[in-house]
Order: sequence, then structure tokens, then C-alpha cells
Amino acid sequence: MKKTNQIIAAEREYKIEKEKFVAVSQYFGEDTFSHKVMKEKLPKDVFKKIMEAINEDTPLDAEMANVAAHAMKEWALEKGATHFAHWFQPMTGITAEKHDAFADPVGPGEVIERFSGKQLVQGEPDASSFPSGGIRATFEARGYTTWDMSSPAFIKRNGISTTLCIPTAFISYTGQALDKKTPLLRSIRTLSKSAVSMLKLLGVKDVKKVFSNLGPEQEYFLIDMDYYYKRQDLVLGGRTVVGAPPAKGQELEDQYFGSIKERVSSFMHDVEEELFKLGIPAKTRHNEVAPSQYEIAPVYEEANLAIDHNQLVMETLRSVAKKHHMAALLHEKPFAKINGSGKHVNWSMSDNNGNNLLNPGSTPQDNIHFLVFLIATVRAVYKHADVLRASVASYGNDHRLGANEAPPAIISVFLGEQLTQILECIEKGTVTKATNAEIIDLGISSLYQVSKDNTDRNRTSPFAFTGNKFEFRAVGSSQSISTQIIALNTIVAESIDELAEKIKAKGGNINKAVFEVLSEEIKEIKPVLFNGDNYSKEWGKEAAKRGLPNEKTTPSALRALVTEKALSLFEKYEVLSRVELKSRYLIHLERYMKDMEIEIKCLHNICMNQIIPAAVSYQRRLAGAINATKEALGSAAVVSSQIELLKKVMDLINNVYATDKEIQARVDAACAIHDEQKKAEMLSSKVKPKMDEMREYVDALEVLVDDEIWPLPKFWEILFIN
Ligand code: ADP
Ligand code: MG
Repeated sequence: MKKTNQIIAAEREYKIEKEKFVAVSQYFGEDTFSHKVMKEKLPKDVFKKIMEAINEDTPLDAEMANVAAHAMKEWALEKGATHFAHWFQPMTGITAEKHDAFADPVGPGEVIERFSGKQLVQGEPDASSFPSGGIRATFEARGYTTWDMSSPAFIKRNGISTTLCIPTAFISYTGQALDKKTPLLRSIRTLSKSAVSMLKLLGVKDVKKVFSNLGPEQEYFLIDMDYYYKRQDLVLGGRTVVGAPPAKGQELEDQYFGSIKERVSSFMHDVEEELFKLGIPAKTRHNEVAPSQYEIAPVYEEANLAIDHNQLVMETLRSVAKKHHMAALLHEKPFAKINGSGKHVNWSMSDNNGNNLLNPGSTPQDNIHFLVFLIATVRAVYKHADVLRASVASYGNDHRLGANEAPPAIISVFLGEQLTQILECIEKGTVTKATNAEIIDLGISSLYQVSKDNTDRNRTSPFAFTGNKFEFRAVGSSQSISTQIIALNTIVAESIDELAEKIKAKGGNINKAVFEVLSEEIKEIKPVLFNGDNYSKEWGKEAAKRGLPNEKTTPSALRALVTEKALSLFEKYEVLSRVELKSRYLIHLERYMKDMEIEIKCLHNICMNQIIPAAVSYQRRLAGAINATKEALGSAAVVSSQIELLKKVMDLINNVYATDKEIQARVDAACAIHDEQKKAEMLSSKVKPKMDEMREYVDALEVLVDDEIWPLPKFWEILFIN
């Protein structure tokens, strides 16, 4: 790449001045119509009704909705909003919003600002442009958005435009889910119901509700906009399809431990300010292992809120980066051979009294509850590892899973040594004789202190217990986390129910029954437990022996969504009907193919319009130099090194050209297949390897061709100049 670009990026002045700093506590949540604001702005009885509706999951009557809408409108107008929007998460993975003005004509030349309860509670965006996986026939394009009262409305500022955004669920005219929130809310309810029943069975009577909690750690890359816009693969597909690794990567680990660069710190500050206004508790920020890679982690919240907030975090990273003349890359693997980005999703369950059900307690009785929920979760992962694998499957994440930096495609559970030992004791039956009065302790009561430091040493596990929560690490950085939480909540609900049935069937002393059931269960689910190195080759072999699924590509992983086991599970728990789940499977499959097709086209364009022209021009220069030298020194002149170089360049050009043709031919062959599953599998098995081969040729050219005429910014520039 021409030197000027490097110099431009390196020398631009990035000092951001701030007029004055205000303590975060002064403005945290100021752009949200939070419960606190509602309490202030709404008549007492209306506020009470809304809270009831949220807690009991009941609809709000029309009159109450009108009062709420009025207060919300007045509040939004004060904030400068001109429009309102139902904000929802269609199956595209990003959020959508259709804006309507508050201003409404009331006569010729006259408007007033209006916002009715009906407009607040229900919207009717044209559903036809959102993927539905065949649910919505073209003649019935209508879809409805309905207000999700449990996630506060917020103000969104975009340039000079200000909009009141109302979090909503999106369903079809016939009541089927067209979004990610609807099944998420269903799964949260389902898990709560199962967990509350289990607690009752265990003798805890005062629990009404169980929440799923989430703390997502979001990784991303941040690069200079100058480089970003020079790469159509980054702009259009989010990932570089060619590019040789830089001379220095992450081997010195100086990035992770180094201080955050000034320009990046300013960016993070701005991001956090935006998030704080939206009531998002951004807590932790740090460099990640790869150069120009970072992480942001808010404090955990109730799942529905945490997921809305994660969507906003991703949006905010992107928009604030632009203001700083940078691009935030959320793709799972923007740069080959450089560490990719994931989203570690920390998940736990807690009851309405604030007790974390995955927290080893200080009494043996507490620890029995803990063990039940812990083992129910492990059991769920064992039973539905294929569904969890499918929940993280995407074209982008395929580059990461199993690539020696991220967990493999095998879903196993890490519990750490101490818990594993305790499970072994339970399995052996050492505790089955326990009565209510004398619960054999096994050292269980000291779990809390020890396990905190004991766990999380294993960074290679896809599903690790880390003291009082599970950390699902296979999630991709760009993914909406609803998909995984819908799956996780549902499979855990099922396991809790099945354990409860077994405990009840034993009868007699409850503790004895619990330990007997746990002992039997542990025997069965043991194969999913693995404390070793998940990156090692041996684990692949060992996992195969244990019969754990290992689907390496998205098309093969997605099949798990349409097995009878999965269809009947989601149907039974009323999280997704058969039709809904099948449609989701199709949407994921289509998305995989679309993402891949975009990359194929980018790769073709880059090779034909940028790489071959540059390489041919270098070839011409080499040939010219050889001829000129022979002319000057006579035909006996030794130019063997130039000839060798010329031949190498020519061969590589030929390879690029031939591979491009081969890719097109294979794509055509795949496109002739009508079965979507087979088509996706063919693209994955026949086209993808050719794309990787192409990359090798292009990257070999990159290190031969003159830097001045190389048409793409190189990784060292992109990752080290900022
Ligand atoms: P790590 O060692 O992985 O950095 P942290 O303790 O910093 O772990 O937490 C990472 C994320 O997990 C944060 O978002 C944090 O709020 C969240 N977290 C902590 N406790 C829980 C919990 N009980 N349930 C869900 N998430 C939690
Ligand atoms: Mg973590």
C-alpha cells in the first residue's frame, strides 16, 4: 500500500477535548424511561398496574396504556425526541426500527404531538422485508410489534435526530414469532416455572420467580477508517478474505498487558458515556490478546435486559467508532491467523429474593440446592450439546470455533477439580444415606471460598463453571445472544423438570432421594465433563470415543435444530412451535449461504480488479528489467534471480486466475441444488476450501510484489497503526 496512507493514519491528531466531566452517577440512565422515571411521572395506581403487569406477565388495559403513553411522550419531548419507534430484533440478528413522528395533523396547517396507548402497545411494521423462514405467506405480510414492558424505552440520538425507542416483540398476524425476543421471553418464563417448582420440591416455599442472568463480555477490533474503506471485504463482509499475517502478531503478548492507547481510551470513554446514558452498566474495558483487539463487559443483568443492552453495545461501538474515524469490527475472525473475537456469555439463575441458584452456599442444605441446579445444567448440556452447538453456528463463527484460540466445536463442560471430586463422591454413593438431620458434608460447605479461585483456570472450555455462574465461550462476537439463551434456558428447564420427576418418584426422605437421583445422573452425564485442554488433538479423539457430537461446520451443526428431539423439546415448553423452529433453521441456513456468497463475490472482485492487475504490472516490470539488463550487458548477463521471481509471480497469477474460475464453477454446481441443506453443505465442503487455497496464492503474491503498488492495506498497517 502506498506510504501516504500509513502516514496519514499515523500522524492525524486524535486529541479529543472535553469541556467538563460529570460524575457518571449524575447522568446514568438519563435517556431511559426507567422504573424510577415511571414512578415519578405516572399516577400511583398506573405505576402499580404496570409493575404488576411486568411481574405477572399480564397485559395492560387500554386506559392504563393511554396514561403511560402520555407520560412517555411528554418525557420524550423534553428530551428533544420528534419521533417514536418500535425497536425490535428480527431474525437478521441486528435491530430494526420504523420511525413515526409524534406530530400529527389536526387541521389545515396545524399539528399537535400525539402518542396513544394503542401506538405504545402495538405497532404494525411491514413484515415482508424481514426473514421469516417461510412462516409468512407473501399475501399476509402483516406483522405486529408489542411493547415489552420489562425493558425500558430509551432515547436514541443519531446526528441531530432524536427518537424514542420502545423495545418490542415482533410476531406475525397468526401469532408466530418473527423475532428473537418472543421466544426469549417464553424461555425465561419456562425456566422460571421449572426452577420454582424444583425449589418447592426441595422445601423452599417463598420463591415466586426465577430469573436468568447474563453478563456478556464483548470482544471487538478497532481499526483506522482509512484502511477500512480501502477493503471491500471488510466493508461488505466484515472479514478480510485475503491478507498475509504481519511479521509480529500476538506472540509477545505486549498488547494484552500493555496500557490502552490514547486514541482508543478516548473512544472507550465516549462509548461508555453513551451506554451510561442508556442505563447500561459498562464496567470493564481492556485490551485483548490480538493487536487492536479490545473487550467491553457490562455488569450482568436479567437476561432480557442484558440482551437488549448487548444489542445497544454493539450498535454504540459501531457508531462511536465512526465519530473517531475508526471502524469497530465485530466479526468473529476479521484477520486470518490472528486471534478472533468471541462473546463470553456468563449465565446464572437467581430467585426473586436475590439468591443465585448456582452459588455454592455456606450450609450443606444450600449446597444441595446448588448441586441440583448445577447438575441439571450439566445434564442439559450433555443431553442437548448438539442444540447448543447449533445455537452458536454461523458462517463467521465457523472461522473461529476449533481454530486453536476458541473452544472447539465439541461442547463439553469444565467444572474444575474440586467440584469434579465432589461429583465423583456423589456418584459413588457416599452421601446417599444422608437424612435431614445429618447431611454428610463432604467439604461441600467450603465450596464457595475454594471454587472461586479454583475455577476459570481453563480458558479452553466452551462451557465453564466459574464459581457461581457458567460461562458459554463458544458464542460469536457478532451474534445476538438471544439464540443461545433461548436454547440454554429451555434445555435447563427440561432437565430441572426431569430431575424433579425422578426425585418425586423415589419418595421418602427428600435429601436421600436427591442424592440417589444425582448419583444416577452423574453416571450418565459424565462424558460431557472435561477439565483438560480443549485445544489438544487428543481431546478430539477422546470426545469421539465418548460419543460427543463434533460438528465442524454450520450446515452440519444446524441439523440439530430439526431433529425430533429438538422439535418436541421446544414445542413441549412452548418456546418455539415446530413451524417456528423449522423456519429458524431455514433462516440460519440461508444466512450462512448469503454470508458466504458475499465473500465469494468480494474475493472475486478483489482478485480480478486489484490483485491480478497489481501482480501483472509487477510482472511487466520484472520482464522489462530482465530485457533491459540483457540489452545493456549482452545476452549472457546473469539475471537468474529476476527470472526466478518473474516465474513465481507468473505462476501465482495463473493460480489465482484458475482458482477463481474453479470457485465460480463450484458455486454454479451448488446453486443448481434445490435442497437448501445439501446446497449449504456443498458450499461448505467444496467452495470454502478453494477460497482458502485462493488466499494462499494471494498472500504469497503479497510478500513478493512491490509494496508501492500493492492495492490493499496490509495487516501490519491495519493492526499496528492507530
Ligand atoms: P472474568 O473472570 O471472566 O473476567 P468477571 O467476574 O469479570 O469474570 O465477570 C465477567 C462477566 O460475568 C461480567 O459481565 C459479570 O457481571 C458477569 N457475572 C458475574 N456474576 C454473574 C452471575 N452470577 N450471573 C451472570 N453473570 C455474572
Ligand atoms: Mg470471562
